[in-house]
Amino acid sequence: MRPPLIIISGASSGIGAATARLLSSHGHPLLLLARRLERLQALQLPHTLCRAVDITDRAAVLQAVAEAEQQFGPADAIVNNAGVMLLGTMTQQDPAEWERMLEVNVKGLLNGIHAVLQGMVARRHGTIINVSSIAGRKTFPGHVAYCGSKFAVHAISENLREEVAGHNVRVITIAPGAVETELLSHTSDEAIKQGYQQWKQEMGGVLAAEDVAETIRFAYQQPQRVAIREIVLAATGQQ
Ligand code: NDP
Repeated sequence: MRPPLIIISGASSGIGAATARLLSSHGHPLLLLARRLERLQALQLPHTLCRAVDITDRAAVLQAVAEAEQQFGPADAIVNNAGVMLLGTMTQQDPAEWERMLEVNVKGLLNGIHAVLQGMVARRHGTIINVSSIAGRKTFPGHVAYCGSKFAVHAISENLREEVAGHNVRVITIAPGAVETELLSHTSDEAIKQGYQQWKQEMGGVLAAEDVAETIRFAYQQPQRVAIREIVLAATGQQ
């Protein structure tokens, strides 16, 4: 019998794409969500439904999940990974940037949870995996809204875990340090971007997306009675 359906948001690049490749290699059918459909389709994974969905659009998320569950059966896990990091100082940053970060990183994550939680509770089985960050545990300069969004992910995860633990649903937070992906490229403040690149070099390299994917797989593949609540991982050289 084929393993159950897993949903991954933000699977068109970086950590999401690496996680999709890895979980697909373990035989899972997948629902992949992101705005760039062609990037999802380019992964060419078997038993996979790709949908161009903006994670902030709750109706679109619900529709895609319903379609995937119709095709592959109930979702056993969701990896709420879609996120943006638009670094900037509160004094200078365009409010549209911090608004977008909170919309995607917080509201989008809640949309993902909302789309699967009732079914998991009813079946008394399931796993919610939320991708946060070390920036969800400590602050960094120029990260006010990003840290705010990721601290929120930690708080949401922990409180949700308490709410659904008695229903045999696991909630796992994955908190990576710096990872080599497209994430930084969307920051519009060139000075902050350059500083970040220099910081990455000084620490002697960062994690690969595959390192985080492997951590997600490890946490998910524990027996259902084992809930790894949080994993924090970073390049060894990151302080
Ligand atoms: P990428 O920029 O490579 O990937 C981000 C993904 O999120 C893309 O697939 C993008 O797809 C998707 N996304 C962004 N906005 C939306 C939206 N509105 N609706 C749907 N999908 C969206 O970065 P990473 O792989 O690094 O980021 C993945 C997660 O890991 C994020 O939550 C990030 O905060 C977190 N993280 C990353 C770290 C790093 O150093 N890279 C460190 C710690 C945590 P598309 O543009 O096609 O919609």
